Amino acid sequence: MPTDIASLLFALTLNMLVMSVALPSVMGEVNTAARRAQAGIFAGAVGWALLLGSGLTDAGSWADRALSTLAMAGIAGGMALNAVAFDLWCGRTTSSRAPAAIAVLLTLGYGIGFSSYAFRVGWANGLLALQMAMVAATLWRKPLVPVGRWRWLLVVALLAQTIVTAWRGVLGAFFTDQFPTFLTLHPVNIAFGLVANVTSMLSLAGILLAHRDEAARGLQLLATLDGLTGVFNRRAWLVQAKLDLAISVRYDQPLVLLMLDLDYFKQINDSHGHEAGDRALRFFAVALQTVSRTGDVLCRYGGEEFCVLMNRADHAATQSFDQRLRALLAASAQEQLGHQLSYSAGVATRVGAGDTLEAMLRRADVALYGAKALGRARTLDAQGRELEPASAS
Ligand code: GH3
Ligand code: MG
Ligand code: MG
Repeated sequence: MPTDIASLLFALTLNMLVMSVALPSVMGEVNTAARRAQAGIFAGAVGWALLLGSGLTDAGSWADRALSTLAMAGIAGGMALNAVAFDLWCGRTTSSRAPAAIAVLLTLGYGIGFSSYAFRVGWANGLLALQMAMVAATLWRKPLVPVGRWRWLLVVALLAQTIVTAWRGVLGAFFTDQFPTFLTLHPVNIAFGLVANVTSMLSLAGILLAHRDEAARGLQLLATLDGLTGVFNRRAWLVQAKLDLAISVRYDQPLVLLMLDLDYFKQINDSHGHEAGDRALRFFAVALQTVSRTGDVLCRYGGEEFCVLMNRADHAATQSFDQRLRALLAASAQEQLGHQLSYSAGVATRVGAGDTLEAMLRRADVALYGAKALGRARTLDAQGRELEPASAS
């Protein structure tokens, strides 16, 4: 099969250029990771175009040196941008600076040592191979969020590129007579051209899958949260609460369920408007989060009703939670909402190993109903006893 390096590299460059224009056009608005990946492909594509363009200038001229050096900045810079995207997709918010540092070092060294063919081919390919191996190693590490198998697609693509690039570097630097020009039809150079074409396709598939993975994760998270307040919705809370109840039974630790309902909430809607009602719900959710401790799981159970599951909480801890919440509302509701906000609540403590979440919810609901009947703005336990309000001191 007749083949030549120029055609292989031209096809690679054309593919990357078209991709780098097509992707941002069809992907629409994307987040930081996808933007970095798009920029990475674009930089790489421009780099390859410049490298091919440098072949049209007089070999060794200033134009050749400038175009080739800029090409290195594009190719290595593109890989560094991709590395940032991969890190974000794996849940890491801080990236290693090494790939970017290599890109800078590579470009500077290449520009300075350009007049020696053996040096520049060895230097550029050696550092590119190192950079790709580092990115592959980072992708290999266990991600901080669950990710799909796209990670392995990228690892394989990067390792294949690392091998042919390093080999090409060794050939150019130490066996220069076998690889005297960029377009020499040496088997390693042919392998390089073929691998570069195949891996650019694999990488594109990996990047698109990673992006889809992240979007799915975002949707999954959204499905567990209440749209208005951002706390767990009932469904997600029930899943977590059942798990916590089982753990509480298993380790014989106390568990408290608190059901809270805002008082006269309909009046807030009626006299201040539905918007003010929504604001009050958001304010209350933030207040709940503020007074919560590690291990408390809260949700908007529905309407103006919230539930808090307090792991390892005894009577004193429940009372203290209730007092902190009432004190916070008394101190800031008027100022932040323009009106007072109070709630009634019912407490259910886990009894025995056979207790169920449904039974606890029923007991808390009955206690809450009792608190309403006694005049609201109070918290009752399942025995109908009122929790002590904070002392007036
Ligand atoms: P009580 O003290 O007995 O609890 O009286 P209440 O007015 O708080 O209770 P009621 O159940 O009569 O009214 C609850 C109101 O909450 C009625 C409903 O329109 C309102 N509501 C439920 N969900 C939302 C919401 O998402 N936003 C707003 N603004 N209001 C809501
Ligand atoms: Mg109410
Ligand atoms: Mg209600």
